[in-house]
Amino acid sequence: MGSSSGLEQARQVFLQGCGLPQAWAGSRQWVILETGFGLGLNFLAAWLAWKHDPKRPGLLHFVAIEAWPVAAADLLRSAAPYAELDPLASGLAAQWHDMLPGAHRLEFEGGRVLLTVHVRDLGRALREPRLRADSVFLDGFDPDRTPAMWQLPTLKAVARHCRRGTALATCAVADPVRRDLVQCGFTLEAVEGAAAKRSGLRALFSPAWEPKGQRPANRVAPAHCVVVGAGLAGAAAAASLARRGWQVTVLDAADAPAAGASSLPAGLLAPNFSADDNLLSRLTRSGIRLTSQQARGMLREGADFRLPGVLEVRDAATPARLHEQGGWVKPAALVRAWLSQPNIQWRGNSKVDRIRVEGGEWQLLDEQGATMATASLVVLAAAHATGALWDAALPLQAVRGQVSWGSHASGSALPLVPVNGNGHLIAHVPLDDGLAWFCGSTFQRGETDLLPRAADHAYNFERLSALLPAAATEISAAFADGSVQAWTGVRCASADRRPLVGELAPGLWVSTAMGSRGLTFAALCGELLAARLHGEPLPLDHNLAQALDVARALA
Ligand SMILES: Cc1cc2nc3c(=O)[nH]c(=O)nc-3n(C[C@H](O)[C@H](O)[C@H](O)COP(=O)(O)OP(=O)(O)OC[C@H]3O[C@@H](n4cnc5c(N)ncnc54)[C@H](O)[C@@H]3O)c2cc1C
Repeated sequence: MGSSSGLEQARQVFLQGCGLPQAWAGSRQWVILETGFGLGLNFLAAWLAWKHDPKRPGLLHFVAIEAWPVAAADLLRSAAPYAELDPLASGLAAQWHDMLPGAHRLEFEGGRVLLTVHVRDLGRALREPRLRADSVFLDGFDPDRTPAMWQLPTLKAVARHCRRGTALATCAVADPVRRDLVQCGFTLEAVEGAAAKRSGLRALFSPAWEPKGQRPANRVAPAHCVVVGAGLAGAAAAASLARRGWQVTVLDAADAPAAGASSLPAGLLAPNFSADDNLLSRLTRSGIRLTSQQARGMLREGADFRLPGVLEVRDAATPARLHEQGGWVKPAALVRAWLSQPNIQWRGNSKVDRIRVEGGEWQLLDEQGATMATASLVVLAAAHATGALWDAALPLQAVRGQVSWGSHASGSALPLVPVNGNGHLIAHVPLDDGLAWFCGSTFQRGETDLLPRAADHAYNFERLSALLPAAATEISAAFADGSVQAWTGVRCASADRRPLVGELAPGLWVSTAMGSRGLTFAALCGELLAARLHGEPLPLDHNLAQALDVARALA
């Protein structure tokens, strides 16, 4: 296929073949499943159609399965002939990195266009839980060249992700494909297609039988919801729900947002590298991708965050490794940005004492037993206070910690890139009165007092001296003369150190236990919670989502 016909084909065969954009008019969400992302033109065409459509759905999910992702430069090259695709193609290319095996969520338009790319073999990807696609772009392979992929089992697996009425479009018009689609429950209609492929095929999923295991058609309707806790976890969940049309009230005991652990002045957004790319490595990669995307979209680069990568230093014998993704973020800036999204109302000085359910409505009560708010949906994100609000024991542990910090001159030789290993150093962070460095942190399990400790400063300095001797020398005076400052906070961790996200009871959800990685996990957990609630495509692999599910702690 010549590149000059690519956009035309995307529009004629795939969009029009699926009746788009008319078919999605007025819907809250729309899910397109594409088999084969290729050079991304079908996605860009769908995104552009969404952008220009006054009747566009509130949220567009585009789920693509691609075993062999191209390079970002190839995406740009293929979109280059079409001026209208720029800057969409640049936005896509900017997020197109680390496309390793697994699911990757790329967010555009403030999180209202969500691209999930499953980098894996089609058959395997189609075995993931059902998507309930509204449109299917059957693309990316050719029945003449790869006949095995076009066999009945593949089409059956595609049909598994369709609802009654899902439209499917494809360039393939070969007889065996038509026959197999009919066998899978599609009714067919031939259409004029793009010049390059001459014709396309459109089909409607309308089986004569009742498809097994179909998800209910009525996705939950957004209404009023209350989130308890205005730290990273609560604010991220509120933003994810508000984007889906919920009117969200966020209650917090404190008189300002980000008053708990999220008042950390600047935190690391750092990947976890493991030689076998273990669960934590994959989870942190998914989380960092989402936080970075959201920080770039909402915060001031240089003032609220900087993502120059993170240098990982394990020990003197192992060469340092630069992780290109990551950097530092001011958590409170992120919390405020999330809370300032449309449909969110923040209420301080609102300590929730307990919750109860009556007639399907959740009531949130204060210490006097007065009702502070009611809602059909409540999300608990009150860190280690979460357990006290809900009967079932959640295995939450408080872990106190102290960061040591001080100011430095702008010409300082402290590293520009955050360094992480046994301890960490972040420098060149702009505060109101100049630049600051941060190093830490200590871990005291089961402790919650916030008084700074001299012993913690000594511990932080000792570790910094081993990690980065030159930097330690440069800031040693602050430790020696007592001008070093302390920030203390209490982390909330689960037994296995992974967040707890999910449903506790009908209408009662939780997002907590961010541990030492609230910046990495909060956005991911907010999106996962919202996706589960709405029956949407998940922002990460199914098995990784299971690893975060609160169900594991309640079992
Ligand atoms: C020393 C230290 C260093 C850290 N360094 C990093 C780092 O470098 N990178 C990183 O990603 N993370 C770091 N963290 C972890 C990070 O701070 C947390 O993971 C994150 O802030 C947790 O967010 P949260 O929203 O779950 O909790 P919190 O920010 O604690 O928010 C909980 C909120 O719930 C409110 N609340 C509690 N009870 C009630 C109630 N009954 N009613 C109403 N509101 C209530 C509280 O007022 C609070 O605002 C660090 C933590 C510490 C302590």
